[in-house]
Amino acid sequence: MGSSVIPGAFDAHFHLNPGELGKEAVRRFKASGGTGINLVNLPDYSIGYTDYYERRYEITIRLADMARESGLKVSVTLGPYPLDYFFWEKGGFNAKQMMLDGVDLAAKYCKQNVASAIGEIGRPHFPVEPRVIEDSNEIMQRCLEVSSEIGCAVVLHTEDLDTKGLEGIHTMIVRARANPRKVVKHHASPELNGICPEVSRSILATRNNVRSAIHEKIWNFMLESDYVDDPGKPDKVIPPDSVPKRAIMIMEQYMNYEEIFASIFQDLPEYVFSIQL
Ligand SMILES: [Zn+2]
Repeated sequence: MGSSVIPGAFDAHFHLNPGELGKEAVRRFKASGGTGINLVNLPDYSIGYTDYYERRYEITIRLADMARESGLKVSVTLGPYPLDYFFWEKGGFNAKQMMLDGVDLAAKYCKQNVASAIGEIGRPHFPVEPRVIEDSNEIMQRCLEVSSEIGCAVVLHTEDLDTKGLEGIHTMIVRARANPRKVVKHHASPELNGICPEVSRSILATRNNVRSAIHEKIWNFMLESDYVDDPGKPDKVIPPDSVPKRAIMIMEQYMNYEEIFASIFQDLPEYVFSIQL
């Protein structure tokens, strides 16, 4: 059974750069039984300040086409990255405004169904000055409002959240009148799946995380590799075929694997990312 290929594994958070390494990652994912990814745009400060988001989103849209041509189902997530704040500041720009403009452009692509989510947006994952947190929260709040207005999903990148942190996000979702199921906490802790369970999450597909998440029996999560094809850091965050490999693990270890697959690889991703898997 270990060598059999599981159809249908969906990776909810996957990154690609142009070039051969990305194509190889897609091949590896597919060869292990992966069928779909949510492709999240990457910051690339080598683009420079002119038309920054336009050019960055275009790169991601082209990469999504490449992955589709390789036979994958692909949803696209476009939006400013929390650390863009420092890129804009360094250039002497009003960082908050530039990022809000980036949100508007991402929303335009969502309305045209070129993208299905805004992200990964949120707060830096390390301690920063209070004003950066304030501005980041304002940008995040705007994204949630856009989600409520046009029905797109939002992928959140934040510091590791505890119960209070999750409740804070939930309060922002309620304030924006957004649909919490369309909001995905990326890099979520499976042990906290029961806190504000109506908020969706994607969980790094390590063996322990997958076991913990299944143990919680709350089907509000998807799996992710958060793979980035960075030649300097191979297989970061975890290898591109991690999610299909965990699918094989689930099939081998859980009697109700079909039910689990239906939820994490089909129902939730289809609902969140408006994709047909
Ligand atoms: Zn990411």
